[in-house]
Amino acid sequence: MNWLDLRNLIRAHDGPMTRELLQRPGDFGLARLPESITPTATTNLVCGFCSTGCSLTAHLQADGPVGLSPTTEYPVNLGMACPKGWEALTVLNSPDRATTPLLKNSRGKFEQINWPTATRTFAERWMRIRDRYGPEAMAWLGTGQIATEEMAFLGALGKFGMGMLHGDGNTRQCMATAVVAYKQSFGFDAPPYTYADFEESDVIVLVGANLCIAHPILWERVMRNRRQPQIVVIDPRRTETAMAATMHLAIKPKSDLPLFYGIAHILFERGWIDADYLKQHTSGAEEFRKHVASYTPEFVANVTGILPERLEEFAQLVHTRKRVSFWWTMGINQSYEGVRAAQSLINLALMTGNIGRPGTGANSITGQCNAMGSRLFSNTTGLFAGREFTDPAHRNEVSQILEIPLERIPDKNSFSYHEILKGILDGKIKGLWVIATNPAHSWINQDQAKDILSRLEFLVVQDMYTSTETAQLADLMLPAAAWGEKSGTLINSERRIGTIKQIARAPGQALSDFRIFQLIAQACGVGSMFRQWSSPAAVFQLLKQLSKDRPCDFSGIEDESHLDRSGGIQWPFPPLQADSALTDSAERSQITMPVAGITQERRLFADGKFFHADGRAKLRFEASRPMPEPPNDDFPLILLTGRGTAVQWHTQTRTAKSAVLQKLSPRNIYVEINPADARRLGVQPQQTVLVESRRASIRATAFLTQSVPPGQIFLPMHYAEVNRLTDAVFDPYSKQPSYKACAVRLRLPS
Ligand code: SF4
Repeated sequence: MNWLDLRNLIRAHDGPMTRELLQRPGDFGLARLPESITPTATTNLVCGFCSTGCSLTAHLQADGPVGLSPTTEYPVNLGMACPKGWEALTVLNSPDRATTPLLKNSRGKFEQINWPTATRTFAERWMRIRDRYGPEAMAWLGTGQIATEEMAFLGALGKFGMGMLHGDGNTRQCMATAVVAYKQSFGFDAPPYTYADFEESDVIVLVGANLCIAHPILWERVMRNRRQPQIVVIDPRRTETAMAATMHLAIKPKSDLPLFYGIAHILFERGWIDADYLKQHTSGAEEFRKHVASYTPEFVANVTGILPERLEEFAQLVHTRKRVSFWWTMGINQSYEGVRAAQSLINLALMTGNIGRPGTGANSITGQCNAMGSRLFSNTTGLFAGREFTDPAHRNEVSQILEIPLERIPDKNSFSYHEILKGILDGKIKGLWVIATNPAHSWINQDQAKDILSRLEFLVVQDMYTSTETAQLADLMLPAAAWGEKSGTLINSERRIGTIKQIARAPGQALSDFRIFQLIAQACGVGSMFRQWSSPAAVFQLLKQLSKDRPCDFSGIEDESHLDRSGGIQWPFPPLQADSALTDSAERSQITMPVAGITQERRLFADGKFFHADGRAKLRFEASRPMPEPPNDDFPLILLTGRGTAVQWHTQTRTAKSAVLQKLSPRNIYVEINPADARRLGVQPQQTVLVESRRASIRATAFLTQSVPPGQIFLPMHYAEVNRLTDAVFDPYSKQPSYKACAVRLRLPS
C-alpha cells in the first residue's frame, strides 16, 4: 500500500480510524527496544519536536541509548507518544550530520577547519562588519528548537556581548500572533490553560487546528474527556479532526474574524453573556458590543459561507454549556489579521466567563518544542522574562540581575524576521547568524528569501545537519549537537517546564549550542561578561532570578532534578507555592488537581485578575479586512497550507532522516484537489499538475479528496516547493507571515 492509498483508507473512515493508526505505532514497526537488549538504566527527557512536551524514557546501556518509550507517569502524555517521538533517536544518526566546522573557500567549496579557527574567523569577520557598517549591520535568526538556557545565552551574547540590535527567531512564523494577542488582551503573554482542560470541557472549539495531525497526543487528551463534549472544528478543510468532530463549520478561507464577531453579535443580542464578569474583570465591553452590531447573521453568513441557523446553533452551544474552551493554532496565527482573530476568540471566552475555570479558556497551542521558552527568554523582540527593551526600569532590573553594564542593554526594539530580511535586501544588514532553523526553505515567498540570503557578506549557519537549504548557502558552518546530546530545559504549550538530557554523544567535533556560544563569547573578547553562564544548570538559576516577581515567576523551582521529580512544573511557581502556600502572584493561578501524586496542574486567572495595571482584561477588536490576494480569473483557486501528516515535522530536516517516518509519509509533494475541480480541469488521480501563483510554478502529484472544498487546494508545508508560491504579507501587529491563503491556478504540464 502506498501513502496515497493509506490516506484514502484513512479518509474513508472517520476520525477514530485515524486516531487508531496514529496511536498504534507498533503496527508500522516504529522504534521499540530490540528484544535481545536488556537495558541497564533509564532516564526521562522531554521530546524535542513539538510543543506538546511529551516525556520519553530513554533506555540506556553503557555505550549509549538503545531505545525510547513514552513515559507512563508524565502528566502530559500519560504513556503515549506520536511516531516522531518514537523515532527521536533515529534521526540523530545521519551521514549529513555536521561533524566539524566548515569554511567556504574562494571557489565556493566547504573546507574542514578546527574550532579555534572557526571561532576566530567568526569573531574577526563580524567585528569587521561592525567596524565598517555599525552594530545594526549584524543580526541573528534563532529558533524555538534549542534549550531555554541556550536561547537565553544567544540573546544575551548577541545583544549585550556582541552589540547586535537585531535578532529574531523562527517562532515569528508560528507564535508571534498569540504573543501579541495575549499581551494586548491580558497584559502578559500568558496562555491560561492546562492540558487537563481538554478533559474538563463541555464544548471544545478548535479553530484552524488539526490536532489529529499536528498535536496527536493532545487529541488523545480530548478523547479522555468523560463529559461527552461537543467538539466544534472551524476550518475550511474537512481535516482528520473535523471528521471526528460533532460540528464542523467549513468557513471560507480567512473569514474567521467576521465569524467570531458574528457569534459575539448573537451572544450580545440574546443576552447570552456573563455581564458580571465583563463588568468586574474586563474593559472595552460596551465598545465591543457596538463594534459587532453590524456583524449580523445575514452579513456573516455571506462572508463566511455558514448559514445563519448554524451560527445560531454554535452560539447556543457556547451559551448553554457550562465549560467552553476555545483552542487555536496556525489557522489563526498565520494570517494578515491573526492578532485580531485570536483576540476575537479571547473576547468570546471573556464575554461568556469561560476563563479561569476548569475546561475553559482562550488557548493558543504552540508549535515548536520550546517556542514558549523562546517567548520568555530569547531576548529578541522582548527583554528577558516578558520585559520591554524600551522600559528603563526593565533594563535596570536585567542589568542588575545579570551583572551586565546598563549601557550594554539596547533601548530600542529589534527588527522582526521579515524586517531583518528586508534590511539585508536594502543593504543595511551585512552579516547574519542562523541557528537551528532553515529560512531558505521555510520563509514565505522562498525564492526571494534565497536571493536575500545570497546577498550577505557573511552568513554563519549553526545546525546539526550540513544539508539544509540554508546551510548550503553558508560561509561558515558550525556543527551543533542535537536534542539527546545536550542538557537544558524546554517549556511546553501549557507553560510546563521540563528537562532534556544528554543521553548520546554528539558526532565528531559537534558541540552543544551552549558550548558554541561560550566559545564565540571568548573569541569576541566578552567571555568575562558571561562568567556566570558556566553551564545550563547555572543559567537555569539566572533564569529563575529573571523570572522573579514577573507573571512567569518560577523562582520556586529548585533545580532540574526538582522538575524531574515533579513531572515538570508549570509557571508561575514562586517560592511559597513550592510549600503549597499561595503568594500574591500565585493567587493568579488555580491549583486544579494532583496527577498521579506527582505534580499539580494549574491554570491562570482563576481570580479574574489580569496583568494589565488595572487588573482587567481588555477586549480588543478592529474591522475585518479582505484577503490581500483574493482569487480572480487568472488565479481562481485559494491555496491553503498546513501540516500534512503526524510523521513529518516542519521542513523535514529531521524527520526525513528516519526510514520509518519516511515510509509513513509521501516522499514527494502532493496537492489535495476537490474532485469537482479536478473534473473541470481534466486532472486524474496521481497525475502531475502544475500549481502556479504570481510568484512561481511548481509540480505536484494530484490527490483528489473531498476534504478540500471546490475552489481551494491544499499543499502540506513540509515540502520545499510550497513556499515558492506563498505571498509575503504579514499581520501588522505580530509581523507574522500569512502562510494560509493566496491565489493560485492549476494546469496540466504541456
Ligand atoms: Fe514529541 Fe510532540 Fe510527538 Fe509528543 S506529540 S512525542 S512532543 S512530537
